[in-house]
Amino acid sequence: MHILTIDVEDWYHLIGNRYFSNPDNWYDNESVLLKNLERIIALLEKYNRKATFLVLGWIAEKYPSVIKLLVKNDFEIGSHSYLHRTTRFLNKKSFFADTEKSIKIIEDQSGKKVECYRMPAFSIDRTNKWVYDILADLGIKYDSSLTIANRRNNYVYPYKIKTPNGSFIKELPVSTFRYLWVNFNSGSGYFRMFPLKKITQSLKNENYNLLYFHPRDFDLQTPVSLKVSLLQNLKNRIGLKQSINKFESILNNFEFTDIKEASQKIDWIKADTLKL
Ligand SMILES: [Zn+2]
Repeated sequence: MHILTIDVEDWYHLIGNRYFSNPDNWYDNESVLLKNLERIIALLEKYNRKATFLVLGWIAEKYPSVIKLLVKNDFEIGSHSYLHRTTRFLNKKSFFADTEKSIKIIEDQSGKKVECYRMPAFSIDRTNKWVYDILADLGIKYDSSLTIANRRNNYVYPYKIKTPNGSFIKELPVSTFRYLWVNFNSGSGYFRMFPLKKITQSLKNENYNLLYFHPRDFDLQTPVSLKVSLLQNLKNRIGLKQSINKFESILNNFEFTDIKEASQKIDWIKADTLKL
């Protein structure tokens, strides 16, 4: 099973950067989002592949053409929060408000229910399980916010999450890519960094593959910013030259689908329930 997810945010939605953590500083930047989104969509159409687009509510609000483009091409649309804040900066009240706002904007623009969610920076852990109660209350059925890194175990296949209030959410975690005995998250910077051959091997060998990308992962012209450290600028740019060709190659060779369709093929009765 090969599932593709794209976090729809711009190059300046950088987490852990003091300047860009402030949404007031987002407005003055050149946007590279739409042209990159169009390139991704063109390739998905070329190979007839599906993907789930997890859109930042702030982006949907600022650029209504983004949701229009995704609806026109009949892609599944989920939420990646409104302001791209991690759980570190959110309490129950502010998380509810942020998530509700992003879902409302996307639903109003798309005319479709938002059922998928991804937390910025995969920042859910045992200290903030209440996130799942709020997601369930807001109608989220599928979550893709967990990775091997924030579970600290080998759960990198779909499982059910029983929320503290007793609701259920279907979790489709980001899968791992193993290289030199180390597990990395599948997609984005790691996809750009590793050779295509290794990525292809991993996609062939594993039963469950869920990859995540950002539109900026394919843009050689990603702006360099003086507000960002040299290391972060380098991290943002590593492997950009080859990434679009590698992406096209995996789309050509593997049948990628979206979260909803993948979920229909998963035997949820047999799936483990994760104890939070
Ligand atoms: Zn993000």
